[in-house]
Amino acid sequence: MLDIKITRTETPKAKPQDESKLGFGRIFTDHMFVMDYDEGQGWHDARIVPYAPLVLAPAASVFHYAQECFEGLKAYRRADGRVQLFRPDCNAQRLRDTHERLCIPAIPVEDFVQAVKALVSVEKDWVPHLDGTSLYIRPFTIATMEQLGVHASSSYQFLIICSPSGAYYAEGINPVKIYVESEYVRACPGGTGAIKCGGNYAASIKAGEKAEQLGYSQVLWLDGAERRYVEEVGSMNIFFKIGGEIYTAATVGTVLPGVTRRSCIELLRDWGYTVHEGRLAIADVMKAAREGTLEEVFGTGTAAVVSPVKQLDYGSESAQIGGGKIGPVTQKLYDTLTGIQWGRLPDEKGWIQPVD
Ligand SMILES: *Cc1c(COP(=O)(O)O)cnc(C)c1O
Repeated sequence: MLDIKITRTETPKAKPQDESKLGFGRIFTDHMFVMDYDEGQGWHDARIVPYAPLVLAPAASVFHYAQECFEGLKAYRRADGRVQLFRPDCNAQRLRDTHERLCIPAIPVEDFVQAVKALVSVEKDWVPHLDGTSLYIRPFTIATMEQLGVHASSSYQFLIICSPSGAYYAEGINPVKIYVESEYVRACPGGTGAIKCGGNYAASIKAGEKAEQLGYSQVLWLDGAERRYVEEVGSMNIFFKIGGEIYTAATVGTVLPGVTRRSCIELLRDWGYTVHEGRLAIADVMKAAREGTLEEVFGTGTAAVVSPVKQLDYGSESAQIGGGKIGPVTQKLYDTLTGIQWGRLPDEKGWIQPVD
């Protein structure tokens, strides 16, 4: 149990007036959670303080060697006004795994969940009310040691900030066009593809810009070794429904183990679908499209929940999926997950944690 000291702001900001114009990640709430780590002392001084700029040494390791990582989850407001979280323990465990890979000292799962709940509880009035809106929660860890040598930092800060966010599909669910990236790679075996670190994102921006310039909304990443197997789409996991069965890349080292991915797999198996977690060659996806057995393609992630794909372009070949419309399995996953998250459906799987 953390002993969290709370200092409330004396100058609260005005809440956004129009919840249909929140967008994503542009507005921040009044407070943030902070906790320090120092060698010999461990994690200490858990506190909730007014949201404010950080003061860090210019030589702090985070600025030079990117020893930093993050998480992303949401708080949802139910119709009865209560606020709840979706599987925060999964984010806590994933942050632990990420810390381990980056040589950052662990934060216990219960402490992470307690910190998130404490901050969301303080910021409860910032959880928007409009259909499909939520409070996006961004926990992150930075290395703060003032030293330019390349090794693990001896001091860190763990923070959580919150941002009221608009409905992802304010204009209805729009299937997207995806560019299969065969030049740049996101991750390779032995690297950091399986963890949520900023470095992965820095390296992905170039391909994202290229795809955008070519008129696509995202890139589909192939494996970094052979560039033959499908891995992820942008910052989402990806699923394919081919001949009635579901395929998604295994999370073995180069693929981020998404909480949404894992939840979709559990639901799909409950519904009787065969879900293959393994290697799927892009050539086989294009072949399925030619033969008419590529039924649905969708990305999964906290932001969009599911994002249907209507077109995949690989080299000179183009695969058209579902006549440009969202498929029935994609729609059912979307309805079920969002139903559970916003409390419209019963939480039969024990995925929901209320915020008091
Ligand atoms: C965060 C992330 C995902 C999705 O994970 P969720 O827990 O479902 O939000 C997928 N791929 C990458 C690269 C990510 O960073």
